[in-house]
Amino acid sequence: MSTDRLLEFDDVVARYEPVFGLETHVELGTASKMFCGCATTFGAEPNTHTCPVCLALPGALPVANAAAIEATIRIGLALGCRIATWCRFARKNYFYPDIPKGFQTSQYDEPLCTAGHLDVEVDGETYRVEIERVHLEEDTGKNLHVGGATGRIHGADHSLVDFNRAGIPLVEIVTRPVPGVGAKAPEVARAYVAELREILLALGVSEVRMEQGNLRCDVNTSLAPTGSLEWGTRTETKNVNSLRSVERSVRYEMRRQAALLDDGVRIMQETRHFHEDTGSTSAGRSKEEATDYRYFPEPDLVPMAPDADWVAQLQSDLPELPAARRTRLREEWGIADSEMAWLVNAGALGLVTDTVAAGADPADARKWWLGELSRRAKDDGVELADLAVTPAQVAELCGLVAAGTVNDQLARQVLDGVLAGEGSPQQVVESRGLAVMGESDELGAAVDAAIAGAPDVVEKVRGGKTAALGALVGAVMKETRGKADAATVRRMLEERVLGG
Ligand SMILES: [Zn+2]
Repeated sequence: MSTDRLLEFDDVVARYEPVFGLETHVELGTASKMFCGCATTFGAEPNTHTCPVCLALPGALPVANAAAIEATIRIGLALGCRIATWCRFARKNYFYPDIPKGFQTSQYDEPLCTAGHLDVEVDGETYRVEIERVHLEEDTGKNLHVGGATGRIHGADHSLVDFNRAGIPLVEIVTRPVPGVGAKAPEVARAYVAELREILLALGVSEVRMEQGNLRCDVNTSLAPTGSLEWGTRTETKNVNSLRSVERSVRYEMRRQAALLDDGVRIMQETRHFHEDTGSTSAGRSKEEATDYRYFPEPDLVPMAPDADWVAQLQSDLPELPAARRTRLREEWGIADSEMAWLVNAGALGLVTDTVAAGADPADARKWWLGELSRRAKDDGVELADLAVTPAQVAELCGLVAAGTVNDQLARQVLDGVLAGEGSPQQVVESRGLAVMGESDELGAAVDAAIAGAPDVVEKVRGGKTAALGALVGAVMKETRGKADAATVRRMLEERVLGG
């Protein structure tokens, strides 16, 4: 659908220097909305979570949600921000059908948190992303366009609006522009959002389900010729809502803008839409300036003045943050940076940690999650965390292997059963009869049958070609459908063929 001419990425970074910046909106997981008592639960019948305040009926007055203010300060502290001692909400005026007041209650020149930073790692290198501000605002409602083919307004015959989301507390985290990252810009942008998401999860302030829109990014990208003292004109790709899309949108804009600049075309400052299917962007509206919003302090709300002792208490109560946690686990598990990065990128760190907490050896837990389970998740096209097996079950499986009840091959069959919903690993071992055969009469019979069935091989072994024993081991393993322990089988064969 896109007709943009794109320059090859290598050519872009050879001649241009990108600068990116991110504005990330996070829906807080508070029980009630920002300025009223309406519930925030996702997926309710349209317009059932509304009241005079969030519908902006005349005379209704807002009251700020203390839990949302606390969560915002904690986010600011986790990002190393300064917390304002006094600040106000402001009205951001604009007309959209999903914003009943005709303005959004937000913050303008007095944000709650300022001047922080977040360090992110890409390919073993650390990049510092400066945080300009973290402020509190409210979400809009949701328009639903009916009758068109794609749910877009074009071609629709009417539109509906759902105000359930209107007034849900929203934190906006704004980075300063990030220059000097060159070809790594798309990956650093993605790594920043990934790390921010981990921090928000650790703080427990949001579920950060990107597919439900709990976390959405506006991605600013600009290009300037390498060596230029000025930055280029930026575009703002709106509402990018997956990590992969953040990376793709920066990459696409770099390639698109470079092709235009090569042709001597000026970049327009505009908002752009991101298209998940093609990974491309398309022009939206030309970008408003702050003056277009006619900001002024919100007269219906008292200023926020967080008490210094309270802020100090929140700081000391912060949980262990992801970077510190990774360092600690890396040392405890004795693994390299690269393996930790692998665990994080695979979305396996939390799962492995929980598996270890459930009693598994760290090396075994990593082996199963990064190996067999990653393969199955990939085959099924699902996230690792969405597989139908819990860390406790993986720990139980590791225990069965360690105890010699099953070997690795049988353990994979046990997993089949667990993933098929047949119960715990122990239950699957019993119901499918998957325990390793000990030195039993049954195994002895299988060994004897293998010897009787291959007199030529037996002759070779007796003649000194002990490597030929492998064929007999294979025959026994086949006969027992992999349930025998190979080392036990080999020892039994040696005893019977060579007379021990
Ligand atoms: Zn309400």
